[in-house]
Amino acid sequence: MTDAEALLAAIRAHPNDDTPRLVYADYLDDHADDYPFPEEARQRAYTIRAYCEFAKYDYSPADCPNRTAFIPCPCAECARFYEANSAACAATRYMTRCTDGVLNWYRWAGGAGPFITGGLLEDYERGFLVQVRLAPADWLAHADAIRAEHPIQRVSLTTIPGVDLPPTGATGTHWWVIPEEWTADGKTAAVAYEDRRVAAPPIMSRRWPGIEFRFWLRSDWAPADPLA
Ligand SMILES: [Zn+2]
Repeated sequence: MTDAEALLAAIRAHPNDDTPRLVYADYLDDHADDYPFPEEARQRAYTIRAYCEFAKYDYSPADCPNRTAFIPCPCAECARFYEANSAACAATRYMTRCTDGVLNWYRWAGGAGPFITGGLLEDYERGFLVQVRLAPADWLAHADAIRAEHPIQRVSLTTIPGVDLPPTGATGTHWWVIPEEWTADGKTAAVAYEDRRVAAPPIMSRRWPGIEFRFWLRSDWAPADPLA
């Protein structure tokens, strides 16, 4: 295991702790010249630090008790907030920058790149990818590679093995019979999908404890009630 791999493993083992992320950011800076695009490696380090710092703020200057007619509010607490917010905005610009024809946030996703669909700030938290959306077969094939690089916490599955999903184009309430091993309680035989989300399949949760699995289904499928 290389140093970088060991640092990424530490991030995965302690997903709520900033420290291993900041250590990894230092590593990127220290070894930027070893990467194919040194400046991009430094931008990633900056991004990790900026998002970790900004995530600490559960705060809005609009609620500041010291707020005056002056905008921005000049008090010390607000000044810290504005500084962190400004750094996070710069980090977002780094993420959306192109390096050698590839968007940085896509490059930083590594093996998970093809499976990012939720949006930049929905998929990334504190500098790392936490969410992917893909078919179960793709998760089974690529989970190890994806998790080697990112502390994935949420997986949205787009298909249910053995279930033929209706074609796109109609509206209404939709019911499908779900194979038992793919249902949350191992018993439910049919599920309505009006909210498009169905609870975690236990065969996934057992193998990857700590990750939230859901089926995330299109809302525009044709009505069908297999129990009718
Ligand atoms: Zn203030």
